[in-house]
Amino acid sequence: MEKKRVYTFGNGAAEGRADMKNLLGGKGANLAEMNLIGVPVPPGFTITTEVCTEYNELGKDYVVSVLKDEVEKAIEEIERLTGTKFGDKDNPCLVSVRSGARVSMPGMMDTVLNLGLNDESVEGIAKKTGNARFAWDSYRRFIQMYGDVVLGLKPQTKEDIDPFEEIMDEVKQAKGIHNDTELSTEDLKELVKRFKLAVKERTGNDFPENPWDQLWGAVCAVFDSWMNERAIFYRKMNNIPEEWGTAVNVQAMVYGNMGNTSGTGVAFTRDAATGEDIFNGEYLINAQGEDVVAGVRTPQQITLEGSRRWAKQQGISEEERAAKYPSLEESMPECAKELIEVQQKLEDYFKDMQDLEFTIQDGKLWLLQTRSGKRTGGAMVKIAMDMLRQGYIDEKTALKRCDPEKLDELLHPVFDKKALSAAKPVTRGIPASPGAATGQIVFHADEAEEWASNGKKVILCRIETSPEDLRGMATAQGILTARGGMTSHAAVVARGMGKCCVSAANNMVIDYKARTLTINGKEMKEGDWISIDGTTGYVYEGKIQTQDAELNDDFSALMELADKYARMEVRTNADTPRDARTARNFGAKGIGLCRTEHMFFEDDKILAMREMILAKDEQGRRKALEKLLPLQKTDFKGIFRTMDGLPVTIRLLDPPLHEFVPHDEKGQMEMAKVMGISYKDIHDRVEDLIEANPMLGLRGCRLGNLYPEITEMQARAIIEAALELKKEGVEAIPEIMVPLTGIVHEFKAQKEIIESTIKKVFSEQNDSVEYKIGTMIEIPRAALTAHRIAEEADFFSFGTNDLTQMTFGYSRDDVAKFLPMYIDKGFLKHDPFAVLDQKGVGRLMRMAIQEGRSVKPTLKCGLCGEHGGEPSSVKFCHTIGLNYVSCSPFRVPIARLAAAQAAIEG
Ligand code: ADP
Ligand code: MG
Ligand code: MG
Repeated sequence: MEKKRVYTFGNGAAEGRADMKNLLGGKGANLAEMNLIGVPVPPGFTITTEVCTEYNELGKDYVVSVLKDEVEKAIEEIERLTGTKFGDKDNPCLVSVRSGARVSMPGMMDTVLNLGLNDESVEGIAKKTGNARFAWDSYRRFIQMYGDVVLGLKPQTKEDIDPFEEIMDEVKQAKGIHNDTELSTEDLKELVKRFKLAVKERTGNDFPENPWDQLWGAVCAVFDSWMNERAIFYRKMNNIPEEWGTAVNVQAMVYGNMGNTSGTGVAFTRDAATGEDIFNGEYLINAQGEDVVAGVRTPQQITLEGSRRWAKQQGISEEERAAKYPSLEESMPECAKELIEVQQKLEDYFKDMQDLEFTIQDGKLWLLQTRSGKRTGGAMVKIAMDMLRQGYIDEKTALKRCDPEKLDELLHPVFDKKALSAAKPVTRGIPASPGAATGQIVFHADEAEEWASNGKKVILCRIETSPEDLRGMATAQGILTARGGMTSHAAVVARGMGKCCVSAANNMVIDYKARTLTINGKEMKEGDWISIDGTTGYVYEGKIQTQDAELNDDFSALMELADKYARMEVRTNADTPRDARTARNFGAKGIGLCRTEHMFFEDDKILAMREMILAKDEQGRRKALEKLLPLQKTDFKGIFRTMDGLPVTIRLLDPPLHEFVPHDEKGQMEMAKVMGISYKDIHDRVEDLIEANPMLGLRGCRLGNLYPEITEMQARAIIEAALELKKEGVEAIPEIMVPLTGIVHEFKAQKEIIESTIKKVFSEQNDSVEYKIGTMIEIPRAALTAHRIAEEADFFSFGTNDLTQMTFGYSRDDVAKFLPMYIDKGFLKHDPFAVLDQKGVGRLMRMAIQEGRSVKPTLKCGLCGEHGGEPSSVKFCHTIGLNYVSCSPFRVPIARLAAAQAAIEG
């Protein structure tokens, strides 16, 4: 049998289902399902995602020829259900052509509405509806959309002008009109004429009058758009494979722009910003879908309650609200009632917060789309935990519903309360995406990117954003727009990115040319500081201090649930009591990496450290180490105390010594004075320390083996600290970690020094504590000889930063030169320093664990690189049987959730 490429839906029947997203795309699968559960949806059909792949491989002609029969049949089906005829001049069948990938890609793919209109059928529609203005408005919209999307007239850069917009502006100006709705039928006819001329001028061809040519052109344009730059960028950012392809949906048109009993809107079954279980949304009377998204007119709220809340935020009185911006519940109560029933039905069915698109044509409600709604990190957690309590979903589903990366937003700063109470808002807008941000004003997305790459914090300020602004939005601290609403582009995208966003700021005027922003007469320039609060909608002039977020009960409940399912523990990388405290609050089960070298950089310690390094002989070193001992001990006590009762892995001195000594003459002179030796001696010793490649030189346990007295001092400081705390009733659990082992003998020698020191301290104090001695596995040779090292070590900790560096042979400090190109060319999918390379580095880890445990089944294995807080790496660590991962304090909750998901996914 021929492969099925087209799936029809309509009038309560459908060939597809919700679980066919891979084949039909998200939109197509859900359009089918809505039909099956009795939600009113205009009839149509979906061309499968497989055809997109065929299109890219075999080309346009092939695809059109294999689709022809099926598409013609499907169109006949729409004709039958709507009682219209495709291409007919009196009673034409008009359709929309919509893209739809497996996962929604907001604004990435363009939709063409009103397809099927031409110079003849526009008259037919005018006659049939008795509304010539509507017919011509639909026609001019169609030419404009088709011209932009299919014929490629849409501006590609900031400087380009949309020819249609330009013509519109000219016509409006000539008539002294501000709003599109004021255009007369004659104006619209003129627009159509001029639009078509513009098409001819720009493309050299006439605008296609034949509806079949229009249809195939649009279908192919959707497939083409899968490979456009923005779509590719979005896929990269969200890890969506190119092979997935997009489906194409062709659907009978319904009209929200047929007058004042028509309208169109977008709604959420719960609050996408806060997660509250409140149905909410926006609509426009007498409008087509793109008007809502474009954010040109002020959208009105669906519910009365929401409408009142909105008016309050906007400073609009109840009288003015009711007169000018009534809710749908007030303006079309019957439709509002049906919509409220439908949204409940959809949420009950899909068991997740839904984002709906609807159109009302002459008092009749139609649903055009439903999908799981994008939400903020806070809303994500609240909705998952609420739905668990409400019995919609089980514990495992609640955990799977939460994206570990998105927890990050919850952990982000809010404005410092004190600083905030002193600040006076200059205006207020819609709180479109929560969080607080402070930065310098920038007006263009590409400039936001540039400023950010120079280390500046920026707030991207736009009249409204568009998909071209994606990269700039991603690099900005926050986004502020003059127009739009909760569902306009900026709001939707910002929430998806977890960026703070305030939209539709009151009385704010942006002048792109002058690069100024004026709020209530107050002018601010590019580069001025501004602060925005996406939770309240307030905008402040100047810079406002931010502070850490407060975590709520839903978050704690989710974390507890994660721990219930996770098999792997999460520890933290922390060098100070402050970081240790933060991590413990986030649920860290210990410290997986405490780097001791950072402790030496503080003022009082660096001198003693330098003295130790520059000493001529062992005796000189010992003298300096004696000064360091009490200082180190105090540091360790601070950390042990904070981590009372939890293990603390302390890594012995790791970096090359030259990092600690002064390389300039002035610093060396000073050092000479302090140590009472000649400048020349100091200078020679520093020269002596210089290495061609310090990363591969005298560092790690090579240092400790060359100068055993350093290891001795550190072991003593650790154990004395633990014993002193024991007297205070604090339980310190030290795990001493040897860095950079490559040969088992290196480790054995270090272990002997540590053990004999510990024995000495125990007998001096006549007391003891539990301890472990283990090693980092960060040199490929250590992984390759893991069975030998495991005989000696109590634990392994994979230092995946160095292990990645040495396995690839990439210097971590130099990868920026070539890595972006490697990723662009597809040599590498990700930066291996951010996302663990499972095939290479991961294979070494898997081997090392297996071999290590073959000689010591109880061998404890952990990971302490940057990868410990990256969800996909954490999941991999689970599958290879690590006991724990260790990550920076703010990543701890992310790793806990990822560990739980790994356990659930099995
Ligand atoms: P996106 O994926 O960008 O949301 P859609 O395919 O949903 O694009 O189309 C954008 C808008 O066009 C929709 O929100 C809807 O309002 C309108 N639209 C699409 N198809 C139809 C249709 N058959 N009738 C009326 N309006 C439509
Ligand atoms: Mg849509
Ligand atoms: Mg290392």
